[in-house]
Amino acid sequence: MSERRATAKQKRQVAERAKHCCEYCKSQLRFSPQPFCIEHIYPFVLGGKTKLDNLALACAGCNSHKHSKIEAIDPLTNESTPLFHPRSQMWNEHFCWNEGYTDILGITPTGRASVLALKLNRPALQNLRKILFEAGQHPPN
Ligand SMILES: [Zn+2]
Repeated sequence: MSERRATAKQKRQVAERAKHCCEYCKSQLRFSPQPFCIEHIYPFVLGGKTKLDNLALACAGCNSHKHSKIEAIDPLTNESTPLFHPRSQMWNEHFCWNEGYTDILGITPTGRASVLALKLNRPALQNLRKILFEAGQHPPN
């Protein structure tokens, strides 16, 4: 049986692999007042393992909105669809930025469902993205 908590080494590896950005909303840890979480992509409570290929770096907001969800409704089709999986899917294939880089747009069923379920355009994130964009610090590379 796998431990729920990631080891210090796993935490370091996950954060470095994610370039210290939330793997869902792309928030940068260095501009976050709250610590980020090591998140089980396939939830631990559903049997997900504490292994690098099931772990992602997530900001506190995305982590709490995702909770133990693995799928959500695509607002375009009203069909249930798997949430974005940062290990097996590419962010750029499911999401893009709006013109001002304040909003994440879902461009696939998974992208659209994830934007809604994880609330990837929370007002505080939009405000922060606007300021960071003007300062040349957003979006992250
Ligand atoms: Zn996030």
